[in-house]
Amino acid sequence: MKNQSNIVEALTDFIKTQHILSGEVTGIGAVDEATLQFFVPSAKKYVDKTFQEQMEVSNISGNVAVIDGESTLHLHITLGREDYTALAGHLLEARIHGAGEFIFYPLNTRVVKTKDHKTGINLYDFEK
Ligand code: FE
Repeated sequence: MKNQSNIVEALTDFIKTQHILSGEVTGIGAVDEATLQFFVPSAKKYVDKTFQEQMEVSNISGNVAVIDGESTLHLHITLGREDYTALAGHLLEARIHGAGEFIFYPLNTRVVKTKDHKTGINLYDFEK
């Protein structure tokens, strides 16, 4: 693994080396930086925002699918701040500071997603 403290990079490395083509992932831990994304349907694109502070990862949940021939993660995260409020969103990247505990539930199949140009979102494609 290149940088084991970057969650998305490390988990992507894991699904590729383990040849996981579909499944579910869940995780908890702590981070000191996270970049979340919010999808704006009218613009068909994500807006990024980076938070630099110590935060509890109260939950990461996501799935694995094949997009353009590559095993790809889709992750969402909920982060707890020092004042006990929460941030949440689509996860672009986060840096572990403390612990990161993840469990994969691989499925014995291959799930494909294709970019839907009408919405701008990668959607399940059960015909592939
Ligand atoms: Fe998402």
